Amino acid sequence: MERRLLPIILLSIILIAQIQFLFGQDGLNTKNGSSIQHPASSIQRWVLVIHGGAGGSAGQKMAEDLQQKYIAEMTDVLKAGAAVLEGGGTSLDAVETCIRMMEDSPMFNAGKGSVFTEEGKNEMDASIMDGKTLKAGAVAGVTTIKNPITAARTVMEKSTHVMLAGHGAENFAKAQGLEIVDPSYFYTKQRWDEYEKVRKQEIEHKQDSAKSHGTVGAVALDNHGNLAAGTSTGGKTNKMTGRIGDSPVIGAGTYANNQTCAVSCTGNGEFFIRNVVAYDVSARLEYRGQSIQEATRDIIHSKLKAQGADGGLIAVDKNGIVAMPFNTALMFRGCIYPDGKIRVEIY
Ligand code: ASP
Repeated sequence: MERRLLPIILLSIILIAQIQFLFGQDGLNTKNGSSIQHPASSIQRWVLVIHGGAGGSAGQKMAEDLQQKYIAEMTDVLKAGAAVLEGGGTSLDAVETCIRMMEDSPMFNAGKGSVFTEEGKNEMDASIMDGKTLKAGAVAGVTTIKNPITAARTVMEKSTHVMLAGHGAENFAKAQGLEIVDPSYFYTKQRWDEYEKVRKQEIEHKQDSAKSHGTVGAVALDNHGNLAAGTSTGGKTNKMTGRIGDSPVIGAGTYANNQTCAVSCTGNGEFFIRNVVAYDVSARLEYRGQSIQEATRDIIHSKLKAQGADGGLIAVDKNGIVAMPFNTALMFRGCIYPDGKIRVEIY
């Protein structure tokens, strides 16, 4: 009787060992358990996440048709980025593709839809980071580069520096053959009206201009297991001339490291710089062993909230788990997976 059972017992032991080996390889059983939610296994390879800025006022919702326009636009952006990743492109390529599309759209505060400074001009910031090499590039306070995110990537790939600002960045972009436009290209009536409204409210001491901002960003994990993050912005409406936010600051608005995660932030930039938010997410994963959900929730809903800082972020960890927390009324955000599943949300 016992002899007959022996082969069955042995077979069961072998089977259990194989299952443990396979699941361990796929990261389905990490120490914090977080990877159960959406692992980058053989089924889930790449992951792409985008945001179009956080903000809004509590209790005020956008008109339904405008919401639908944003959702349609973000869906197109996600599909374009997914095509890059599906075709074997890198996470850097996908991040740049998505951000360029949002920069070209007048609906987001980056590139074409950028907000105005106190002098009625558009000054833009952008950055990008490669999680594989930890290389990064950024431009700040640029006024004539059509796609600041491409300029940021060019700084990373074609210069020995990380950040170029103002006319130095513009000269470099021109010399590298990037598209240069007249500053009037960035004018949109909607942003001009917002600028005039904010100026009027500030004169009447009715509103802090910190409430009027927005940004675009993307983070991705590609088929090769490499992470990348990028962020691009026009900054805050009626900001001081020369003011630089967190978006081009590596570690504050953008960070990527293959060992941990990729992060792109949006919100009141001064707080994101002071709290080194994007790097803080990565550090919590690396040193504290927190999951991406725990780390980002603590930072956005506890640490920043306690300081009166509004904003949010998107993040994807090395296992493909996504977090999109925000403490504002809304954050334009979305993600897409290889099975075609798309999630696009505003509130
Ligand atoms: N973080 C950006 C800045 O401060 C603005 C935003 O994301 O809303 O420039």
